[in-house]
Amino acid sequence: MPKANDDRKPVGTAHCNDCGLTAAFYQVTKGKRRGYLYKRCPPPSAGGCGCDQSAGAVKQQRWLTEMQRTDEPMIEHPLNLAEPENVEVDETPENGADENLQTPEKSRGLLGIAGMAVVGLAAYFLS
Ligand SMILES: [Zn+2]
Repeated sequence: MPKANDDRKPVGTAHCNDCGLTAAFYQVTKGKRRGYLYKRCPPPSAGGCGCDQSAGAVKQQRWLTEMQRTDEPMIEHPLNLAEPENVEVDETPENGADENLQTPEKSRGLLGIAGMAVVGLAAYFLS
């Protein structure tokens, strides 16, 4: 009899470029890697490349984007959650100040031209 693990249903499937067969994606349900995907191809004896439990961020993200979701509910993926937080962290007040120094320069262009025209007109009428 297969172990309880094998009764789990895949959360996604994808065409595997390594062996050319259909891979199924499962999620780790316990421990530090909870939510991480692992990929399961047919065993090498059946022409597949077996199980890939790589936890590398690049591979995890690629799996997340390339797999076709099944109806099986997913645990929120830890790397998927980390992304929006990083974006917010990037917006520090310091960065904002840097941008503020540069943006007015550009938008001042039009105002500057209008301003100079007014000054030029005033100078013309005053002279
Ligand atoms: Zn494969």
